[in-house]
Amino acid sequence: MLFDFLIVGAGFSGSVAAERLASRGNKILLIDKREHIGGNAFDEYDSNGILIHKYGPHIFHTNSRRIFEYLSTFTTWRNYEHRVLAHVDGRLFPIPINLDTINGLYNLDLDEKALKEFFEKVRIPRSPINTSEDVVLNTVGMDLYEKFFKGYTRKQWGLDPSELSASVTARIPVRTNRDDRYFTDSYQAMPKDGYTKLFSNILDHPNIQIELNVDFFKKRNSYKYKHLIYTGPIDAYYDFKFGPLPYRSLIFEHTHIPNIEYFQKVGTINYPNDYSFTRITEFKHLTGQKFNGTSIVKEYPTAEGDPYYPIPNSSNDILFKKYYSISTSERNVTFIGRLAQYKYFNMDQCVGASLKAIQDIFNEP
Ligand code: FAD
Ligand code: UDP
Repeated sequence: MLFDFLIVGAGFSGSVAAERLASRGNKILLIDKREHIGGNAFDEYDSNGILIHKYGPHIFHTNSRRIFEYLSTFTTWRNYEHRVLAHVDGRLFPIPINLDTINGLYNLDLDEKALKEFFEKVRIPRSPINTSEDVVLNTVGMDLYEKFFKGYTRKQWGLDPSELSASVTARIPVRTNRDDRYFTDSYQAMPKDGYTKLFSNILDHPNIQIELNVDFFKKRNSYKYKHLIYTGPIDAYYDFKFGPLPYRSLIFEHTHIPNIEYFQKVGTINYPNDYSFTRITEFKHLTGQKFNGTSIVKEYPTAEGDPYYPIPNSSNDILFKKYYSISTSERNVTFIGRLAQYKYFNMDQCVGASLKAIQDIFNEP
């Protein structure tokens, strides 16, 4: 059969593209090499009956009303504001760093104004701000950098913060008030029946055919299609001709603990300085599920394995641009998503990029 579009990857990028194209009357074949839809946002009930995120914690947040409304066509939501504590010097403190973090850590009683003065005193001004080290030192100085950021970043990325773009640690704000939410976006919510259900609703269209457990590179010649949308790693698409783009991977260690209500006080606890995992997430906080027993995941960063994170720094940007420049001359191929655009996208940014890419294909404003 001749398809209008072959889409590689059933994560947010590919699934949103499939839905937008199908709703315009196009016939779509969506393939994924995994055995499920949803990409890295896939969730499922573990053997104990708890809804878990197979590829680590996924919390939806966006400032875009358009993106939230688009997804709301396919799910209802559970309001959820994520909170994270960092395990530092054997105690737990709010991260992002806020007034309570500083007062608790240094046994002080500062108010907002005094905290601003405190940061002014301890910060190490940097100009220009190029790296992840610059961002943190410039805002909170050496001690807080070493306690909260240096170890976590080295573990997570296998690189020193000085070797990573500013954008990485700039994801984590520093606050002078007592707001202890991880995100401050206007929309923060979890799909009520989970991400996989959201994906099956997005893909529930007579024009969309899905094939799982297929690797595009092994089967590409057997498909007939007019246009390809590719959401896998861009270097793989070009057979690594300029060399492999570095992606960071993780090993997820899922554990069930029977007969307790909660394992920890909040959704995620970060371990910047101890252990070889970066963080522990307890899913019941995220999903609101009531259950006697609980399930957690520990994330161990690795260099090998599935590509989960593009690694933002200047040499990788240069390499990516080589792939990007040949990709722009493709007439019937569109590259979208975290892997194909080599961008540290959150889920909402993937949805936004996909909505835009489809509009661009049809030259819509
Ligand atoms: P993916 O979800 O990676 O989908 C790409 C798909 O393409 C995959 O399913 C893959 O199997 C398939 N594929 C690749 N190559 C081939 C091939 N050759 N043939 C067939 N199929 C192929 N975002 C948030 O907004 N909030 C969070 O809390 C959050 N937490 C995260 C936690 C972790 C541990 C990780 C890794 C990411 C997190 N994200 C979070 C980011 C989020 O996962 C991504 O933004 C989003 O899921 C990316 O969607 P995508 O479709 O671009 O890519
Ligand atoms: N980070 C850190 N300490 C923390 C939390 C984050 O050093 O307690 C840094 C680290 O480099 C991390 C980055 O900030 O990779 C982005 O954190 P985020 O929680 O957004 O990572 P993600 O959820 O994408 O893995």
